[in-house]
Amino acid sequence: MKKIGILGSTGSIGTQTLDVARNNGDLQIVSLAAGSNIKKLEEQIREFRPKLAAVWSEEKAKELRTAVQDLDVRIVSGMEGLIEVCTCEEAEIVVTAIVGMIGILPTIEAMKAGKDIALANKETLVTAGHMIIPLAKRMGVNILPVDSEHSAIFQCLQGENRKQLGKILLTASGGPFRGKKREDLANIQVEDALRHPNWAMGPKITIDSSTLVNKGLEMMEAKWLFGIEPKDIQIVVQPKSIIHSMVEFVDGAVIAQLGTPDMKLPIQYALYYPERRFLPGERLDFGILSEITFEKPDMDTFRGLQLAFDAAAAGGSMPTVYNAANERAVSKFLNRKIAYLEIPEIIEASMEAHQVMADPTVEQILETEQSVYEFIESRW
Ligand code: NDP
Repeated sequence: MKKIGILGSTGSIGTQTLDVARNNGDLQIVSLAAGSNIKKLEEQIREFRPKLAAVWSEEKAKELRTAVQDLDVRIVSGMEGLIEVCTCEEAEIVVTAIVGMIGILPTIEAMKAGKDIALANKETLVTAGHMIIPLAKRMGVNILPVDSEHSAIFQCLQGENRKQLGKILLTASGGPFRGKKREDLANIQVEDALRHPNWAMGPKITIDSSTLVNKGLEMMEAKWLFGIEPKDIQIVVQPKSIIHSMVEFVDGAVIAQLGTPDMKLPIQYALYYPERRFLPGERLDFGILSEITFEKPDMDTFRGLQLAFDAAAAGGSMPTVYNAANERAVSKFLNRKIAYLEIPEIIEASMEAHQVMADPTVEQILETEQSVYEFIESRW
């Protein structure tokens, strides 16, 4: 039995991780954490019987304690609770399926406690990759990518010499507004942006996919995971999301990983790595699949992607600014407080107002996040 903890168990990745555990029967869930959905968390506790569960507010924790008082489970709350879930003695691997920069500290603490990380929370690597990667080496823990593109790259690199990697071809669906121009995007509503053509995901990442900010975050995630410079990461738009990403070696050979769009594959691969397990579900049918097309991304219309390359080039604390500004802008858009095109505008203005700090500490990253939020609140 492999013992796992899940940070963000009630979300899209979290529930699919539990599907994988349910299908396989030999993963033991030892700890779970969620934000506020205590109804779903209670169901999960009743089904998987972890010994420890966390919710963000103490008020919700109290409610949950009452609801599950017939069970042998301890309910904790706040950042301390998240850290407990990640560091609990039994867990061998922690799935970081929480959304946002709140994942940084628990991930670091999990690694310090010697846990392997199945990493979905890309914000952690984007903002703190310069600490996370050396820490993983120092602690001898594995970071196994859950993001489908990074899992694809990781799969393509198996058995290869990383030093012979020439470039990464990071594929993108292009989102629901592919082919549109800036003026077409002026009146985009929340419902339009939440309609992803291929993947069913949580709301924040779905909006990020529509603006191509998600691809920008993934580019920075790939930089840290695979030790490659942004100039050697090419974004390739491939609308059907069948090729999950590719790598090109120094001799020009390109290796790709293909599959149906199902996050359970990368989740399962991360949890059982290096073993491959049977996964129920559809298979690609090359008899029906008549064409796979490729395009260059339109970085003028989807300015958020260009800004990610700018943030990566500036380095230090700038990716934190990019990420924090996007988080706040997306939340404002989802709450119908700003227009769709203001998302990249807010990111750009926040980046312009920032003085880069090289190699920020966790405290400096969190301070930068706060100052970005204050800057945005003072103007929007
Ligand atoms: P969701 O919004 O669906 O889920 C987020 C999870 O985080 C929920 O369980 C939520 O709990 C929990 N959470 C939020 N705030 C807190 C908090 N303060 N304390 C504890 N838990 C909290 O997100 P996704 O599953 O879509 O994405 C999660 C991460 O995975 C993101 O970083 C995303 O970029 C990445 N990712 C997602 C993919 C996908 O297909 N969805 C693909 C690749 C990467 P609650 O529901 O109770 O609020």
